[in-house]
Amino acid sequence: MTHWQSLLQFDQEHIWHPYAKMPADTPAIGVAKTQGSIITLSDGKELVDGMSSWWAALHGYNHPAIQKAMIDQIETMPHIMFGGLTHEPAIELAKRLIKLTPPPLQKVFFTDSGSVAMEVAIKMAIQYWISLEQPQKNKLLALKNGYHGDTFATMSICDPDNGMHRLFNSTLPQHFFAPAPQKGFDIDSDNQDIAEFKTLLEKHHTEIAAVTLEPIVQGAGGMRFYRPDYLRQVRELCDEFNVLLIADEIATGFGRTGKLFACDWANISPDIMALGKTLTGGNITLAATLATEKISDTISQGQPGLLMHGPTFMANPLACRAASSNIDVLLASPWQENIQRIESHFLNTFHSLKSLPGVADTRVLGAIGVIELERNDLGETIQHLAVQNGVWIRPFGKLIYTMPAYNIPADQLKQLTEGLKTAITQAL
Ligand code: PLP
Repeated sequence: MTHWQSLLQFDQEHIWHPYAKMPADTPAIGVAKTQGSIITLSDGKELVDGMSSWWAALHGYNHPAIQKAMIDQIETMPHIMFGGLTHEPAIELAKRLIKLTPPPLQKVFFTDSGSVAMEVAIKMAIQYWISLEQPQKNKLLALKNGYHGDTFATMSICDPDNGMHRLFNSTLPQHFFAPAPQKGFDIDSDNQDIAEFKTLLEKHHTEIAAVTLEPIVQGAGGMRFYRPDYLRQVRELCDEFNVLLIADEIATGFGRTGKLFACDWANISPDIMALGKTLTGGNITLAATLATEKISDTISQGQPGLLMHGPTFMANPLACRAASSNIDVLLASPWQENIQRIESHFLNTFHSLKSLPGVADTRVLGAIGVIELERNDLGETIQHLAVQNGVWIRPFGKLIYTMPAYNIPADQLKQLTEGLKTAITQAL
């Protein structure tokens, strides 16, 4: 048995992977190294990365400027507790986030994963209403097909009918769910969806602390894009009915849809915004929850006045430094042109797949390409074929999707879409 064979056997028998059995039915694929948009496997085979490590690696892997910042930070101070102490990496990152996100968002809470950023967002919203002596406003209004993480509070606002967390339904707090917004970024909608959303708010707003949603792109709940006008109307209704709006920009933040934040498509500002995944460019785990001054002031003036959350690795300096460097690299790059280039390429190449029997839909927004199949049992086969064709993707049910690094070279982008198309055609 080779060194890698024994490692992979151990992995299969002892280490849980995301949403996986123990031991796993099939061994995971060993990765030896990464560079740019190339993943080198343990057997030396190279794959073009179509996933950006689940949205995160905006500039590909091992970006020299981010690596340099991280190495410098490791040598200076990789970690220090944040209770009672502070440091330049956290302050510098908070300054950038306040400058880039919509102006009312002025206060920053750092956590270590997207799910926890959403937990903090939910806590902030509930504590806000407790501070205003309206503790009955402790429910959330979420959207069907939404996905916000795997912790208990976040599972409770994921689509209850979506198979992923159904198992836990009986143990989760009960919230309200509006129908998913009608699918389609550019559609002319009859607004039935927003009418139903409004009816729920009218009926239950005295119990609702906040609306939670993924702006413009519903990710793991179906890779669905919806029109900015829906989001704009949600903002207006939240104001009308005195309910906070929490925008989960964990996947969409920092450019993925073609705007810096997906909320920008509707020119709206949420009361609370969660960032994660993309924040460090996929280099190290970090997330942030931003809130308005009105929320922080209200919480501070209430009882006990403290925001009751404080993770051990809060504002880890290494992660904060990586995030600031990631943002600097992004802003210094022609990211909008890069995303347009990917969008046009996806539109051109996926178009021909639409007419294939077995393909239900193809859709593209910014640097996100989705091919929705009619069957939901081909994902593994397509993934296997894609790997044979030199491409890394991770299908989800009937959804075959890709979101590459913004700076993926043209030849690798072509390789990615060719490999994907071939895999799908072979499988169908
Ligand atoms: N919110 C959205 C929109 C996500 O896509 C994800 C992850 O897929 C999360 C929250 C949870 O983030 P994490 O996996 O870092 O906990």
